[in-house]
Amino acid sequence: MGDSGEIFQRVRDALDIVDVISEHIPLSRAGKEFKGLCPFHPDRRPSMSVVPHKQIFYCFVCGSGGDVFKFVTNYHKMTHGEALKFLAQKAGIALPEFRPQRDGARSDVDGRSAREVISETNERACVFFEKTLQSPLGRTGLDYFHSRGLTDEMLAHFRLGMSPDSWTGLVNAAGRANITSEQLLQAGLTKARSDGSHYDAFRNRVIFPIIDATDRVIAFGGRVLEDRRDEAGNVVEAKYLNSPETPLFNKSASLYGVNHAKRSIIQTGTAVIVEGYMDVIACHQVGVTNVVATLGTALTSDHARALKRFCQTVVLIFDSDDAGIRAADRAMEIFVRDTLEVKIARVADGKDPCDFCLTHGGDAFRHIIDNATDMMTFQWRRFATQFQATNSVTAKQAAVGKFLDFVAAAMNGQQMDPLRQGLLITQIAMLLGFPAEEIRGLLRQRGSTSAPTNAAQATPSAEPAIVQSLSEERWVLGALLTNPNLYRLVREDLTLALFTTPGVRELAEHVIGYFEHASDWSECSLADFVGSLDTYEGMVNLAITIQREAEQGASVEEKLKGGMARLHDRAKAVELEEHMREMTPEEQLGEWKVVRDKMKQGGNFRRT
Ligand SMILES: [Zn+2]
Repeated sequence: MGDSGEIFQRVRDALDIVDVISEHIPLSRAGKEFKGLCPFHPDRRPSMSVVPHKQIFYCFVCGSGGDVFKFVTNYHKMTHGEALKFLAQKAGIALPEFRPQRDGARSDVDGRSAREVISETNERACVFFEKTLQSPLGRTGLDYFHSRGLTDEMLAHFRLGMSPDSWTGLVNAAGRANITSEQLLQAGLTKARSDGSHYDAFRNRVIFPIIDATDRVIAFGGRVLEDRRDEAGNVVEAKYLNSPETPLFNKSASLYGVNHAKRSIIQTGTAVIVEGYMDVIACHQVGVTNVVATLGTALTSDHARALKRFCQTVVLIFDSDDAGIRAADRAMEIFVRDTLEVKIARVADGKDPCDFCLTHGGDAFRHIIDNATDMMTFQWRRFATQFQATNSVTAKQAAVGKFLDFVAAAMNGQQMDPLRQGLLITQIAMLLGFPAEEIRGLLRQRGSTSAPTNAAQATPSAEPAIVQSLSEERWVLGALLTNPNLYRLVREDLTLALFTTPGVRELAEHVIGYFEHASDWSECSLADFVGSLDTYEGMVNLAITIQREAEQGASVEEKLKGGMARLHDRAKAVELEEHMREMTPEEQLGEWKVVRDKMKQGGNFRRT
């Protein structure tokens, strides 16, 4: 193990993989292991296992698996360096100055990825904005937040700030802190003039840092405090301004407040989505903490994918009917395809959620959330009202027809889980008071549902590739991964040539390479081994599967010894067969006797 391997090992040892993963997806105990929905494939039954005593996770459907580093790199799309930083912080371990590059990731500034550089620049800028808010320059901003009813505690919690009323406030401060102008530009915090000089992108705005689920400042939102107008009286600046998209910031996948809301979203199984930054903060202030906001966009599939890892239900909250209807239409496809329950609610008496929460309190807001209307009912009510469907049979028919057209359009071309499809049809049937079969027929006419026979074929096949491999090959590798100390017993006799099954042979190459590079076998482990693999997921899964096989039944050492003996016998037999092909029958018989006697002596399975 090299220097960087040791720090990975220290961080891994200091953390419990169950704690780390359960901060990302809900886990429930199943015997000695934990189970949860796999975030790496569209999972409907919990297919992911987390094994505390091995400190690994694996999914038996999609084959992803590995150690805690593997989980966070895959989940957050981090580099190994970012993952190390992230997990070291959780573990309370200070990192040495060097920058490990376990994955050889492309790097831009002294070995750091562009995302890391932007995240660091943003972090420094965030502190600058926070300080400005608390300085005399931030007076108007502070007054604004106080006038809206936010407490100082919340200002600090959400790291709210203020950009000075200056073209060079951040530029100058950054210069003093040795942040280069390229870094500011790359993070979208400044803009370049045609003469090459740079100026602040955020000026005289209150600042809302946008922080992701891993506590990185990925972008900023800024709001003007008063409209600036040109001589003709036209507003010259946008009320809200966001950082531009960067390698760290994808606007349509980001959610404001997710860093503080994640845990509560996981616990309640529900994410509440409001429209504005202030709405989020006010909700958290009154104790409703499973609330986030999209960044001036509608709910997208990217949001849905992110949220689906945390919860099953999304409640969209709006302050007007029009906004609600527009958002509901856009969210319809997501609702149909992404197996998220989407509900819609409106804040009463023309207030926005911020004012509502601060006036009426958390319980009143929770009441709105609890009474949200599910998407289908919401949409049907719209069509029913539009066609005044209660008035006559023909009006109802027209409304039903239009409604089903609408549903069919949303379903159309979507890869739909048959179970989901069945549930939606049942829901529509109940809503309209029609038999489910009739609804299915009407939707099929509109070309949106598949025949039920297709449904049965939609189950994913999880046939592991190792069933054809020879058990002795698996025993040996599995035993070594179960008890790395046993490597000393077989080191002399273990060669790659003994492995013939494709895949298993490749794994053997990794296993042997891993042990040969280790300085102390007693410090080796399955988690460390799979953490060292930078190969395709199937390899990780194979390692985990054969290790599980090896620990069951007979003793691990017996399996290793028996497996080695069989591997060598097989190699010997192959050799002999080739040899004997060139012999006369008499010669063959004589040779065979010698081999048989050797085998009876046993123990020595080394090839000669
Ligand atoms: Zn999976």
